[in-house]
Amino acid sequence: MSLKTRILGLAALLIVAAGSASWLAYRALSENIIERWGQQVAEIQVRYDSARLLQSLEREIGLARQMASSSALIQWAQAPDNPTLEALAIRQMESFRSNFRDNSYFVALRSNLHYYYNNADNEYAADQFRYVLDPTKPDDAWFFQLIEEGRDFHLNVNPDTELGVTKLWIDVLMRDAQDNVVGMVGTGLNLDNFLQDIVDIGQDGITTLFVDYNGAIQLYRDLNYIDFATIIKPEGQKNTVDLLFDDPQDKQQVLGMLQLLKQRNGESGAVESGFVTVDGRKHLAGVAFLPAIGWFEITLLDLEALIPRSYLWPLIAVFIASLLITLVLFHQIIQSRILKPVISLENAVHRLREGRFDLPYLHKPDNEIGRLVDHFEKMSHSLENTTRELEREVEARTQELQRLARVDALTGLKNRRGLDEVLAEEIQRAEREQKGFGLLWLDIDHFKDINDARGHQAGDEILCRVALWLKAAVRPYDHPGRWGGDEFVVVLSPCNVSTLEQIACRIRASVEHESLRTGTPVTISVGGYFCEPGESLDELLHNADQALYEAKRNGRNQVCIHTPSGEMIHPA
Ligand code: GH3
Ligand code: MG
Repeated sequence: MSLKTRILGLAALLIVAAGSASWLAYRALSENIIERWGQQVAEIQVRYDSARLLQSLEREIGLARQMASSSALIQWAQAPDNPTLEALAIRQMESFRSNFRDNSYFVALRSNLHYYYNNADNEYAADQFRYVLDPTKPDDAWFFQLIEEGRDFHLNVNPDTELGVTKLWIDVLMRDAQDNVVGMVGTGLNLDNFLQDIVDIGQDGITTLFVDYNGAIQLYRDLNYIDFATIIKPEGQKNTVDLLFDDPQDKQQVLGMLQLLKQRNGESGAVESGFVTVDGRKHLAGVAFLPAIGWFEITLLDLEALIPRSYLWPLIAVFIASLLITLVLFHQIIQSRILKPVISLENAVHRLREGRFDLPYLHKPDNEIGRLVDHFEKMSHSLENTTRELEREVEARTQELQRLARVDALTGLKNRRGLDEVLAEEIQRAEREQKGFGLLWLDIDHFKDINDARGHQAGDEILCRVALWLKAAVRPYDHPGRWGGDEFVVVLSPCNVSTLEQIACRIRASVEHESLRTGTPVTISVGGYFCEPGESLDELLHNADQALYEAKRNGRNQVCIHTPSGEMIHPA
């Protein structure tokens, strides 16, 4: 995997990790804020709904209480068969009817169990007495139950099958001067209207319901959940608030909140709240106790509906966009500040390893990599200089070695290899230019005897002297050399036969003459041969050797020239 892929992958991973951590932190924070906000909203909503319910019921409850304390009604209840009292009472009842919001009332007398009722349409103007309550009938059980419980005031959601209406009944006990219960009065509010006004207010995400002291649902937008005629139902058969929740923990939590508020007994403004799940959605439940009517109000806030998740989409879009922009910028920076210089450095290192100093253009960003590249560039320059210097030195030394390889160490003249090269060049030149050249072969006479008589060292000195005299006797462009032992060779070019003779004689005479002055007389024999174009090395060496042999044979200390015609000339 390339460095670029790794760095970008790592960067993406880090950004995603940091983004996820931020996202989780944001979620935790926002949930915390939403929770606190929701609790406040729930509390406000609960107080607001409670106030609306109480406001709407307060007047009706007050009127019902007034009605229950009406002396005309109490007197009649004590003597229900008295027609005068009945007439007075009915007049009184009718006046209350016109005041009740629902324009209906009911009066039930304890002594004869007569039930009176009239409605908004004044349907029963002629006969307010509707029926006789029957303690054995389940529909009438509410009356007997309330009297038994002795609760002065009670709200009851109940269908009246005799009258064919379902209402929220306000029941108030009527007592005589001795505090004996003589009957029950009250009014009923049309449940549908009431639900619409108070409960089903059409606010998205907010559900309000009212439950009684025992948690039985009294007012809820879905009639199927309402626990009608709660009062007469035994515990366990009631539609209690926990029906709304699927999770047993939620049920426990809400019932716990009811319990807590009961203990605080309607402490002013006390509201409990907590998270619950309703229909698979998270809700915030706010609960308040309404001591005036003995009910609880529960407000359920659907957080998803109130703060939809779609609100977060722009945030997510911004996050993804910033992630992409960051990656692109990161890529650009990595590319220009790290990867480009590193890749160009890598190429340069490759070239250098191959011994090439023509480095490509190197990117040098203003950072550690740039400085590294700069150091590398300087290092490669000094390496190039050192290498060039070394190459020059090696070249010089090689040339020197090559030169030395062609030089005789004792005399400083060309050695046999050097002479071989000169001869090869001359043979080629002669061929090319069709011009011959001269070859002299020299050998010191009786050198063995000199060696024997004076020693090897003295012999070496004589060899050196002969070389010096030889060099002095030829032209600068001739090639004197030591063939080996006491034999010397001179290649003469350009040359002709007479020059060859002249120089051979000059050399011989010079050695003889000069050696006399040293006190050690030395003579040499010289064989000369003029080489024609086209002759091979072996041929001309052989011919020169023959001339030398002839000079030796003929008495030494003389010159013998081997002419191309095969003649041996002995110049004077
Ligand atoms: P001739 O006249 O026939 O040439 O007799 P010569 O004694 O010179 O015989 P030859 O040329 O065959 O002998 C050469 C002698 O040179 C033999 C050897 O001892 C001697 N010699 C060869 N190389 C060297 C050298 O480098 N230094 C010394 N001092 N003597 C050498
Ligand atoms: Mg000799």
